[in-house]
Amino acid sequence: MCVFCDIISGKLPSRKIYEDDLVYAFKDIHPQASVHILVVPKKHIPSVADISEEDGALLVGIMTAAKKIAEQVGVVKSGFRLVANNGKDGGQTVGHLHFHLLGGGVLGRMC
Ligand code: AMP
Ligand code: ZN
Repeated sequence: MCVFCDIISGKLPSRKIYEDDLVYAFKDIHPQASVHILVVPKKHIPSVADISEEDGALLVGIMTAAKKIAEQVGVVKSGFRLVANNGKDGGQTVGHLHFHLLGGGVLGRMC
C-alpha cells in the first residue's frame, strides 16, 4: 500500500526499535537528531486528517508505545519531542500516519 506498509510487513528492511499489536517503530533513514525514531501504526491511516473516532484505542497505543520507546532509548529524563507532519504545508512526505520521536540533545524550537 505504501513504503511504511512494506516496512511493517517486512517486505522492505528497517532498523526496528519496537513492535506490538498496533505499532511498529524503526530508525529514520535520514536522522535529524541523535535519536530519531518513527512511531507508526500498523493500520494504514494516511495522516492525522484521516483519523476517526474509532481510532481512539490505536492513538492511545501509539502514545503508550512512544513512552515505552523513549524509556527504552534513554530519553525520558532528558526529554524528547513527538512530531507528526501533515499534508503538503506540514511537510509530510510519506502518506502513512507517523510520529517522529526526536531527542538525544537539545532540539531547536519550532514554535
Ligand atoms: P515525513 O516527511 O514527516 O512524512 O516523514 C517521513 C520520514 O520517513 C522521513 O524523515 C524519512 O527520512 C523517513 N523515511 C522514508 N523512507 C524510509 C525508510 N525506508 N526507512 C526509514 N525511514 C524512512
Ligand atoms: Zn501504509
